[in-house]
This record gives sequence, structure tokens and C-alpha cells, in this order.
Amino acid sequence: MTERQPGTPGQGLLVLISGPSGSGKGTVCGLLIKNCPDLNLRLSVSATTRPPRPGEVNGRDYFFMSRREFEKLAAEGGFLEWAPIYGNLYGTPAGPVREALGRGENVILEIDVQGGLQVKELFPDAVLIFLIPPSREALRRRLSGRGTDSPDEIEKRMLWVDTELGYMSRYDYILVNDRLEETVSRVRCILEAERSRARRFRLPGGWINPGNGN
Ligand code: 5GP
Repeated sequence: MTERQPGTPGQGLLVLISGPSGSGKGTVCGLLIKNCPDLNLRLSVSATTRPPRPGEVNGRDYFFMSRREFEKLAAEGGFLEWAPIYGNLYGTPAGPVREALGRGENVILEIDVQGGLQVKELFPDAVLIFLIPPSREALRRRLSGRGTDSPDEIEKRMLWVDTELGYMSRYDYILVNDRLEETVSRVRCILEAERSRARRFRLPGGWINPGNGN
């Protein structure tokens, strides 16, 4: 079933960023929020059954939960989408996203392709952006360089890349994340263009005629 559309007048824009692990999604989202306050973007915090990495904070990076807690929440309809990834479960808590969109805030989800396509079903008007690193080798270097995953974990992530790339054509935009600043500025341009689409446009206060209820 399709939800009331985000991005229609009065509703915030729902933005999804997907791409292989190591494509730089997290960094791009962080910079967008930090450097572009005028975009009024809020990052959704996902839930996961994956254990926290050193330095990750519960409630900030993820809501870390047991498989049992996760499955209970999923059964209660608490997620907009959820998916198994590398042997763990990841999901987007529905309540905070719906509330933020209802307040007119723009929400960004950093999720995998399985989740991206589930959200597109629910919110056909969501903006889907796919990030790819410049090459397979660059991706491997990034995954090893960040030092957060074991060699086994890195191999698992590399094996999943081709499956993810297979879904890329279902996205609205594809960006090669070669230079970070450039990627952030291209995402920014996309979001500005999307906000100006006629179907999402809302007349500013000065144009509202109290006589005709517009
Ligand atoms: P990591 O374990 O490196 O933090 O994330 C692994 C993958 O899970 C990444 O591709 C990330 O985009 C994806 N992911 C994170 N949160 C969610 C979520 O809520 N739903 C889905 N479907 N994928 C997620």
C-alpha cells in the first residue's frame, strides 16, 4: 500500500542513499547534514542486530538490539523496511521517519538496496540515490583502510557488491563517489532540484490569498 506521499506540499522529502559498503554513504550523509543546514535534513537512525564497532554509540549510530528484540519489533510493524545483510538484520524504525516527514522535515535513509526498493514501494515519490566508488579496487582499499572489519567481513562485503550493482538501475540517480566534496555538492543539487518540482511546490505565505483558501 502506498503511504501519503512525502514531498507533496507540507510533507518532507524522503531521500535514500544506497551503495556498496565502503562507497562513502555515511560520510556523504554526515557532510550533507553538517554543511547544508538549509536542506533541513534529518538522518534516520537504523536498528541492527550487528554488534557495535569500537566507538559506535547506541542511539546515535544505530539502535543495537538482539535478534529477538528486532524480530518482535518487525512483527509489530515497527519498521518501514528491514533486510538481512551479511548475516545480521538491519531496519528503519517507522515512527520517527513518519513523524519527521509529517513535520515537513526532509529525512535521509542510508540503507541497502533491499531496503531501498521496499521503501520505494511504500513511498513512490522518495528520491533514490545510488553511490558507487570509482572502481572495485578503490572499494577494497576503502574497506581495508577503515580498519573496522575483519578480512572475512571484507570478503563478504565484496561478494555482495555485484548483487547491489544489479539493482542500481532502479534508482533515480547514480553518482560515482570519487571526490567527496564534489559528491556532496552533486547530492545537494539533486535535492534542490527535487524540492523545486512542481508537484512538491508550496506557495510561500506572501502568496496565500485568505479569500480562496489556498
Ligand atoms: P554497516 O554494518 O557497515 O554499518 O552497514 C552495512 C549495510 O547495512 C550498509 O550497506 C548500510 O547501508 C545498510 N543499512 C544500514 N541501516 C540499514 C537499514 O535500516 N535498513 C537496510 N535495509 N539497510 C541498512
